Amino acid sequence: MSMPSTPPPPALQPYLTARHIALWREADTIAAEDIAPRVARMEAAPRSVERQVARSLAKHRWFAVTVPTTYDGMGAGHVAKTVLIHRIALVSAAAAAILQATLIPVGALLHWASDTQKKDWLPQVAKGTLLLSIATTEPVAGGHIGGIETTAERCGDEWVISGSKAHVGNVNLAGAHLVIARTAEPDVPPSEALTAFLVESDRKGVRVGGHQPKLGLHGFSAGRLDLDQVRVPDENRIGEVGGGLAVAMSSSILYGRANLAAVSLGLHEKVVETTAAFLKGRPRYGGSLSDHPVVRDRIGEMESRLRTARTLAYHAVHLLDHGLPCDTELINSKYQGHALTVQSAQDALELHGAHGLSADYPLQRLWRDAQCTYPPAGTGEVQRIRLAEAALGEDPVQWSERFPPESAWIPPRHALV
Ligand SMILES: Cc1cc2nc3c(=O)[nH]c(=O)nc-3n(C[C@H](O)[C@H](O)[C@H](O)COP(=O)(O)OP(=O)(O)OC[C@H]3O[C@@H](n4cnc5c(N)ncnc54)[C@H](O)[C@@H]3O)c2cc1C
Repeated sequence: MSMPSTPPPPALQPYLTARHIALWREADTIAAEDIAPRVARMEAAPRSVERQVARSLAKHRWFAVTVPTTYDGMGAGHVAKTVLIHRIALVSAAAAAILQATLIPVGALLHWASDTQKKDWLPQVAKGTLLLSIATTEPVAGGHIGGIETTAERCGDEWVISGSKAHVGNVNLAGAHLVIARTAEPDVPPSEALTAFLVESDRKGVRVGGHQPKLGLHGFSAGRLDLDQVRVPDENRIGEVGGGLAVAMSSSILYGRANLAAVSLGLHEKVVETTAAFLKGRPRYGGSLSDHPVVRDRIGEMESRLRTARTLAYHAVHLLDHGLPCDTELINSKYQGHALTVQSAQDALELHGAHGLSADYPLQRLWRDAQCTYPPAGTGEVQRIRLAEAALGEDPVQWSERFPPESAWIPPRHALV
């Protein structure tokens, strides 16, 4: 018997087609049947990588969600991707993180790979036989892409790559990693100095570091990737030599921001739902805690934040699906999505009293997982730098305008213009 699904709230109806709603139901059902039973085990083993969830996501072809049908994908677009990540995150943010981490490099391939490369790689991803990671962050440079120290040197028809990457999502699961490396001297500006390569995990010199457990997202593997004189053919270069910054930035903005907004949204909904149920069920002075004005005020604030975050998350990807410029909306949805969720999670913890701290109660997991959505796809500082540029009329390239063929999933006659 399939599990019941919560229908989308009316506020999302403008953004959802019948296909989106079918995916919403499917995601709720699979999350309840396949993922929910594994959550306790994932929480109890923060040092382990969860592989069965990845198999389940692959079995349902969800890694194919934005892959065009030409490459055996679902061709379902960005709102569909948000639906899947959001609904899975409601049950397990770690499981949603596994899905989203592969979908960012998928975006990079869609935007920058040649047709031959797409034919070689994307059908495997769509089938779920190949998971990808994107490896940008470094132990010293951190999120500063211009400071990348990993190098790739041309050697005939091959490139020799050496360096280390850190916090790489899905690093222990991926069969290939999209590595951003320096291909020019340090005095060359980052916009011309970096290049992207797809590096298979089984190449000589690739070492995937042990899984690094974090505060939250237990089961999601984010760790180190070391490359020691790894030789890859030039056919594994994605995009132009010197175009690596564009590959990393475009996929992070068009895919990464939206993905993290969706993870935060699932967490946020669960936080509010859990807290409302707790307050209604906890007796006090002949009624329940939820009757008390001070408590009602805080839950009202949480609901306001949730509704704001939900609209931001779906509105941004809706614009993207319609081929409209929306880089700033994507950035803001990630930024506010995280910030509002963390505030609600803190309120929720306090409103639960000691109960919220119990290791057997889900709230502390939600609180910990919410902290983990700050660094990926740009920290708050990075988002505010981009938002300030928008306010000051200094917007750099709009990737959502640059990639209309990949991002406009809706036929032009249905576009919102
Ligand atoms: C769950 C998770 C998944 C991740 N997945 C991936 C992945 O798949 N691939 C990948 O490559 N990386 C991934 N990361 C890494 C993530 O992208 C980085 O953590 C992030 O870019 C920040 O880098 P850092 O942690 O080294 O911090 P740093 O870059 O060292 O920054 C430290 C602090 O300084 C601030 N700061 C840095 N530069 C500036 C500046 N110019 N102006 C103002 N403030 C600044 C930052 O905002 C931050 O608060 C993931 C991280 C997490 C937690």
